[in-house]
Amino acid sequence: CGIVGYIGKRDVAPLLLEGLQRLEYRGYDSAGIAVTSPKAAGLKMVKAKGRVRDLEAKVPARFKGTTGIAHTRWATHGAPSDENAHPHLSEDNKVALVHNGIIDNASELRAKLTADGVEFHSETDTEVLTHLIARSQADTLEEKVREALRHIEGTYGIAVLHADFNDRIVVARNGSPVVLGIGEKEMFVASDVAALVSHTRQVVTLDDGEMATIKADDYRTYTTEGSRTTASPTTVEWEA
Ligand code: GLU
Repeated sequence: CGIVGYIGKRDVAPLLLEGLQRLEYRGYDSAGIAVTSPKAAGLKMVKAKGRVRDLEAKVPARFKGTTGIAHTRWATHGAPSDENAHPHLSEDNKVALVHNGIIDNASELRAKLTADGVEFHSETDTEVLTHLIARSQADTLEEKVREALRHIEGTYGIAVLHADFNDRIVVARNGSPVVLGIGEKEMFVASDVAALVSHTRQVVTLDDGEMATIKADDYRTYTTEGSRTTASPTTVEWEA
């Protein structure tokens, strides 16, 4: 339902929780957050059924990071629960992913992955995508995501963190909105500008079939086939 992500220098958890609160008006049944930083060895994650404040109460004091993704979920596949809340992690705990939308061929993909020995931790359609990315043999995170998306039928707005590529967040859009927020040595991503406007008015709206990589001081957009696209920021008007 709602996505917020950040990469920069600030303490990311409070910032993402605030972003989630700005998306609360859309309705949701659970929420979650995953963080890392360039110096961190891995990812940290917390998820909770219920309100953003229930999630906030579960976030430990030492939940530090400068890069992160967060989600409010409106369940389509699998009941509202802690486990079914996003992000979803890969088996090696390296990939964390949040997803808006519906993966139509999730049960086929799940059956194939299960036959290959993958153990699922949720009932969501989303989790297949996490495993597909983690199992890709491609060299870059962008290629891993691209390869995984080739198997997907359905709609998505996604944001992906990878412990081995923790200088970036990779996002993609097909039928579910994704906007980048361009800051000063910091970048944001969200499913809705409402989550960004308190930080920046410079936004790039992705098209369907488009992906982006955001780093603290840089962003680039390209198609899901990998060719570069030009997306210059526009200024959003917003009544505070
Ligand atoms: N289909 C996904 C799920 O049920 C995502 C739902 C959403 O857009 O929040 O977990």
